[in-house]
Amino acid sequence: MEQPGNLFVVAAPSGAGKSSLVKALRSFDARVYPSVSHTTRAPRGQEKHGREYFFASEQEFDAMVANNAFVEWANVHGKRYGTSKKGIQDRLANGEDVLLEIDYQGALQVRESFPQAVLIFILPPSWEELRSRLENRGEDAPEVIELRMKNAEEEMAQVGEFDFVIINELFESALFDLKAIIHAQRLKIASQRRLRSDVFESLNLS
Ligand code: 5GP
Repeated sequence: MEQPGNLFVVAAPSGAGKSSLVKALRSFDARVYPSVSHTTRAPRGQEKHGREYFFASEQEFDAMVANNAFVEWANVHGKRYGTSKKGIQDRLANGEDVLLEIDYQGALQVRESFPQAVLIFILPPSWEELRSRLENRGEDAPEVIELRMKNAEEEMAQVGEFDFVIINELFESALFDLKAIIHAQRLKIASQRRLRSDVFESLNLS
C-alpha cells in the first residue's frame, strides 16, 4: 500500500555493524523512527521491554500471528521476531520515515506489503573481518560464532534482492553511505512536494 512516509529496511549478517550504524544514524537524524520489534527471546543485559524489543511469550507471539498483526515475522537464530503493523502503519500514513532493523527474510516479506520500501544490505568487507569482529566483541562462545558465520553465508547470498549495498569497511564511510541513501529518498519528487509544499505552492507547481 502506498504511504507518504519512507520505509527503510536494513539487514545484515551478525557482526557486519548494522546496529552501530543505525544507532549512529539516529544520533544525527531524529526524523527516522526506529520500529520496535516483538521477539520471543529473553531480554539481554540492560534491555527494556518496549525500548529494544517488546518481549513476548510463545503464546503471545502465536496470538499475534493468528490475528495477522505482523507486517513480517521470521525465525532468526532459533527465536521468533516480528514487526507489528500497528507500530509502523500510522507513522507512515502521517508521512514519518520508519526504519526497520531486521533479518533478510523479514526484509523480503516487507517488500511484499510495501513495494516502495527501500531495502539496504550491509556487508562486511571480508570473511576474515567478519570473524574478527564477532570474536572481538566478546559476546559469543566459539560455537555460537561458528553458527553465526555459517548463517552469514545464507544471509549474504540474498544481497542481490536488495536495492542498496553498503560495505562497512570504514565506519564513518558506511555511515555516510547510509545517510546518503536516506537523504536521496527524501529528495524524490513525491517527498519534496509533501515536505516543501510551501515552495511548490509559491512557484505555482502544486
Ligand atoms: P538480536 O536478538 O541479536 O537482537 O537480533 C537477532 C536478529 O534478529 C538480528 O538480525 C535482527 O536484525 C533480527 N530482528 C530483529 N527484529 C526483527 C524483526 O522484527 N523481524 C525480523 N525478521 N528480524 C528481526
